[in-house]
Amino acid sequence: MGASKIKAPRGTFDVLGEEASRRTALEARARSILEGAGYERIETPVFEATELFARGVGESTDIVRKEMFTFEDQAGRSLTLRPEGTAPVCRAYVEHGMHKRRQPVKLWYLSSFFRHERAQAGRYREFWQIGAEAIGSEDPAVDAESISLLAALLAEMDVRELRLRLSSLGSLESRIEYRERLQAYLRANQESLSDEVRGRIELNPLRAFDSEHPGTQRVMRGAPLLREHLSDEDAEHFAQVRALLDAAGVGYELDPTLVRGLDYYTRTVFEFTSDALGAQSGVGGGGRYDGLVEQLGGPPTPGMGWAAGMERILLAGDGGGAPSAAGAPPPATLAPVELFVALASSPASSPEGEGEGEHPREDLRAAAFGLLSEARSAGLSAQMDLGGRSLKGQLGHADALRARYVAILADGQTVLKDMQGGGQEQMATNAVVHAVLRGHHAL
Ligand code: AMP
Repeated sequence: MGASKIKAPRGTFDVLGEEASRRTALEARARSILEGAGYERIETPVFEATELFARGVGESTDIVRKEMFTFEDQAGRSLTLRPEGTAPVCRAYVEHGMHKRRQPVKLWYLSSFFRHERAQAGRYREFWQIGAEAIGSEDPAVDAESISLLAALLAEMDVRELRLRLSSLGSLESRIEYRERLQAYLRANQESLSDEVRGRIELNPLRAFDSEHPGTQRVMRGAPLLREHLSDEDAEHFAQVRALLDAAGVGYELDPTLVRGLDYYTRTVFEFTSDALGAQSGVGGGGRYDGLVEQLGGPPTPGMGWAAGMERILLAGDGGGAPSAAGAPPPATLAPVELFVALASSPASSPEGEGEGEHPREDLRAAAFGLLSEARSAGLSAQMDLGGRSLKGQLGHADALRARYVAILADGQTVLKDMQGGGQEQMATNAVVHAVLRGHHAL
């Protein structure tokens, strides 16, 4: 009699055959899009000190309360298989002193994550995420770029019936004030709430918006909304994010009830869902986490990022990533930057140095962001400065990236500089991509 067969644990899967090729193709797309936008690959350990997630993700979240695979090593230290990627990447940012680099530091990963969830189609206990984090700038263009990159990846993978929901949670301070109002409202209506929601009024009242319990949903229809409590600064930040997404042609729905299941989010939050997926409709999402790095012992540092589930992208995709698909971009390791988009500094500022108070022209930003998106859609690797630098600082950045062309946007005109040939030409902004492609092919 042979020995009994051993199966893979519940909620896990092997990757082989056709599935392996589809995943390889998805990875190549992600790498091409993200490295083309200046994101560098990072991989962090599969397990971390449990405290990283308790502190980073938050004690009140489902992930930390119920879903972590936690164990002790021989020396009695508590370790946890990573349930998500943002806290580990922020830990690495602090541990490697990355705040000393040019900000924002942009990092991407493709790693497996572990959550003790009820296994079903599209929900596993070990699953893979592609993630991108931009740490060190609160510029709304970082938010818009980050969201646009995931939109581009999902479009390339032909994810069906895709919707993007967008909201702003405001800063931590406005959230605290709002939280108290919401708690008072929930307490006043507690007899209609589900036991679970009632039990979480003190710990995590915002999650009541996620409940599928009919009584709770009825109560939540009349609940105070966070967007009515945003500070002027937060509202302005969110307005800019939306304007930049509009300029890039990324469609979205505003959803004031969008709350993500992790405590660290501030300001922008978003989620892509696919109705083709049924109950597990989340394809990917993320947002800003302006307090997280500091909470992990680093200097006060803003951040923005997302994670998208590989299995869900492939389940909801129409095979756009199949290896046979024509025109699949080659994997881009350290893609050369073909176009750097820069903005003229405000007239009041001196042309010298990166002095205090010298800022790129805000009014030109939507046009610059539109040009960046247009260039990327045309297959160019393009970047713009996301750190609010002066023109001189932006040109320094373009130099450091060895950009082939730099487009400098000013009122009603754009100057395209050929950084290799040395020439420059003035043209309409909407002629830039064509000119770069022409020059590019002439090489
Ligand atoms: P989250 O980190 O919870 O925001 O999840 C981001 C994305 O990861 C989701 O939109 C899903 O695509 C994917 N994801 C999260 N949990 C699982 C899971 N248990 N199994 C498969 N994919 C998951």
